[in-house]
Amino acid sequence: MNLFKLSTKRRENGTRKFSFLISLFFTFFTILMITSCEFMMSNKSESNPISVEIEHTSGAELNFIMTNNGSTDLYFSSHDVPYPPADTEDPNRGHFNQYFNITDENGLEVPYIGLLAVLEQTREMWKLIKSGESINFSVNLHGEYQFPTLTGNYKIEFISPVTVMDIHAIEGRAVNEDGDFIPGDDGLKNTVDSNIVESEIVIPNVILEDSETRAATSPCNATQKSWLDKTKNNAKTITGKAVSHINGGSDAIWVALFGSANSKNLTFTSNGLKKIQGAVGKSWTYNCHNTSNGALAATSKSSPYKVHYYPAFFKNTSETSNKFVMMSSVHVHEASHWNEVIGTSDFAYYSDCAKLAKTPSKAIMNADSYRQYIVNASK
Ligand SMILES: [Zn+2]
Repeated sequence: MNLFKLSTKRRENGTRKFSFLISLFFTFFTILMITSCEFMMSNKSESNPISVEIEHTSGAELNFIMTNNGSTDLYFSSHDVPYPPADTEDPNRGHFNQYFNITDENGLEVPYIGLLAVLEQTREMWKLIKSGESINFSVNLHGEYQFPTLTGNYKIEFISPVTVMDIHAIEGRAVNEDGDFIPGDDGLKNTVDSNIVESEIVIPNVILEDSETRAATSPCNATQKSWLDKTKNNAKTITGKAVSHINGGSDAIWVALFGSANSKNLTFTSNGLKKIQGAVGKSWTYNCHNTSNGALAATSKSSPYKVHYYPAFFKNTSETSNKFVMMSSVHVHEASHWNEVIGTSDFAYYSDCAKLAKTPSKAIMNADSYRQYIVNASK
């Protein structure tokens, strides 16, 4: 009798597991359908109202001109362009992503060596650009790209997609209990590729100095150091759980972030997670900055184990806060960037990673896709 009961229970568990998997499958299928429909709709109905023009001024400086050619006032995400911060203490915040593709006379790409940052989603990241208005600012490429020669002919293209939002969509947008801005639903956002302008640009007298000059070493205080240690320890724990999880294969979480099941990509991401696990187990050099520039943390691909942290990273330093896992996962995002780990880029952040999964070759090289995999697989 006992045996019979046991087998019934087993069967019940099996059925429950099966229906759970079915509902998971349908949930993800529905999400996929909705996002792909949105993608198709936005491609069909929207043409980019923003145009970008770059001009070479002198040295390694460019004049960057953004124009709203549309008939409505818009907000654009300042994260998507090398926009200078309002903070005058840090007039040259430098670049937070690879905004340009630069090639030399032989068509070889000039590597981006500047910082890659995890940026906070805040109300302040949205900047107004009125219909017919142009915004003009200067951009310095010095220290951001590894130019092979001091003088040469380079072709520079602006390659970053720019997110724009209707002016009415952002007003009255709520904040959560932590005072954080709640980003718009994907339906309210309007992500469009910006126009690409190519120019033959001569950059004279580029001094190849340490790319870290701009982000000079700045020590962290005891409170900051303690929060960094706690979150980095937790990063080790959650990455360990994710490494065990990925051994189970490409489940719904994996598919949502890295695209349809593919054994080559599964092996690549699995090896990547193991490398991240190794990197978070090592000791790192922490740099803490006082200026708030919209970033949580940043690093450079070519500076392994050296990470910059900004005031927003230390906003709520309690292990019971809902920020604990988020901030822990920021370390794994940074670790994935280093060339000796995976050498990831920042193609998409946050909920945009689900859309990036449609392009698996990019998704498996995107830092935030690994961060989100680790967060979800370790639950
Ligand atoms: Zn990044």
